[in-house]
Amino acid sequence: MTALSHIDRPPASASPATSLIRASGLSRLFPLGERQFAALSDLSISIDAGESVAIVGRSGSGKSTLLNLITGIDRPTRGMIHVGDTALHELSENALTAWRGRSVGIVFQFFQLLPTLSVLDNVLLAMDFVGVVPVKQRSERAMHLLERVGLEQHATKLPSGLSGGELQRAAVARALANDPPILVADEPTGNLDSKTGEIIVDLLLEMVAGGRTLIVVTHDVAISAQLSRVVTLADGAIVSDIARAAR
Ligand code: ADP
Ligand code: MG
Repeated sequence: MTALSHIDRPPASASPATSLIRASGLSRLFPLGERQFAALSDLSISIDAGESVAIVGRSGSGKSTLLNLITGIDRPTRGMIHVGDTALHELSENALTAWRGRSVGIVFQFFQLLPTLSVLDNVLLAMDFVGVVPVKQRSERAMHLLERVGLEQHATKLPSGLSGGELQRAAVARALANDPPILVADEPTGNLDSKTGEIIVDLLLEMVAGGRTLIVVTHDVAISAQLSRVVTLADGAIVSDIARAAR
């Protein structure tokens, strides 16, 4: 995928001996009546650059909460999370937003495209917002990404004119807009039929082949079986963490 990776950026990690993502002692508490409920409790995990990780576990086990901490959408109540040289738990809200735009591409279950913008403009907006792609290259890059996901014919359509699978492909194009080193997807195929889901998974796996790090929350064993590592959560803790070589 070299064509999609023409933006100069420093290596994600200064030292190859250090994992790209390092979370240590993460807890996330939510108020529950008079008490507090631990969506995550004292969770530690390291993920190396280039890994493809499935996060699995029952509904309510803390999968989305973990993704939200890794992407800086949410903050830990306790614990530390480093991505490369950045200590996410120490960043201000604004710095975290800017970091996220540069560093992670996020694909959600319900696509989350802006309904009043065309598919193309949704991708362009992601570039405008972050500003790492030079202005002159944005249109061409956005069209290239839409071609890459097979949506060039739909570029000027509003999201309402697309099928579920097309919307998710558009969301993948948007996630790749700023060529982020990390891709995160929360049940990206949860609303798609299996054939359409496969197209999305193939796209994500191609990004891994191109050197990116992928973390996917999924219930689908057909997906997790294709990734390099499967981490299972239960009640906000890791109960199993299995690399492919060991399976
Ligand atoms: P999963 O993605 O594995 O289904 P989540 O990470 O979304 O689970 O949620 C884990 C637990 O934390 C659930 O019991 C959920 O109800 C609770 N939770 C998540 N977000 C919030 C929130 N904003 N406020 C209160 N409770 C929450
Ligand atoms: Mg979830």
